Amino acid sequence: MIIPKTSEEIELMRQSALMVSKTLGMIASEIKEGVTTLELDRKAEEFIRDNGAIPGFKGLYGCPSTLLTSVNEQVVHGLPTNRPIEDGDIVSVDCGVLMNEFYGDHAYTFEIGNVAPETKKLLQVTKESLYIGIREFKAGNRVEDVGNAIQKYTESFGYGVVRELVGHGLGKKMHEAPEMPNYGKRGRGKMFVEGMVVAIEPMINMGTKNIKTLKDGWTIVTRDNKPSAHFEHNVALVNGKPELLSTFQYIYNVLGISSNEEDEFRQKPLVI
Ligand code: MG
Ligand code: MG
Repeated sequence: MIIPKTSEEIELMRQSALMVSKTLGMIASEIKEGVTTLELDRKAEEFIRDNGAIPGFKGLYGCPSTLLTSVNEQVVHGLPTNRPIEDGDIVSVDCGVLMNEFYGDHAYTFEIGNVAPETKKLLQVTKESLYIGIREFKAGNRVEDVGNAIQKYTESFGYGVVRELVGHGLGKKMHEAPEMPNYGKRGRGKMFVEGMVVAIEPMINMGTKNIKTLKDGWTIVTRDNKPSAHFEHNVALVNGKPELLSTFQYIYNVLGISSNEEDEFRQKPLVI
């Protein structure tokens, strides 16, 4: 059952989403060659607790960490490890927090040093597909309109769209209805309703769409070991239009990136 939020609840969820955004901004300044994902995980947990929030993943379904860090061929759910990050890696950092009783859940794939041009392209297209999907999250549309738009765009580059893992509704639970697949048929699925909040999160593989789970029971990798990218935003349906609750702006401020990609999805100015 979809649980629509009141405008007060959406403002609380904006705070939760922005707390994750801030955490990813902190990670942006720490993530580099030689650093381990376990070190990043420790810093993220400290940062979240220092800011009066609770790590959202840790303990959920038995998850041992604050961050899920997926390197190169790892798609999502990568457990932090002692392996130092290397030049040329891509690292998807997925983070959740619980604050004011509501979850935020948000991810960005970072480039480390000299990343291969074809991998950079995968990241660019995956992030573009996130916004193409968000654009379809509007009154009158249905769940699979989002997935269809993401699938059509990314498959036009020959990429594989992961089927087994999907975006989701978000609220007092990390995973609420509806499931938000990154593939689908136009006009199919539940109708969007005013006040609902979702996590839209394309997981796009350079090669095959097929995945497998590593022996740790968590880390998911591509079957062909080719790279995979993952970007995730939290979005509310407000006045029939998508309203972005999370932001990559903290990351962009650290990385010196100037972008207006989020502007069309803000009915309220971003205050960070
Ligand atoms: Mg999610
Ligand atoms: Mg996530």
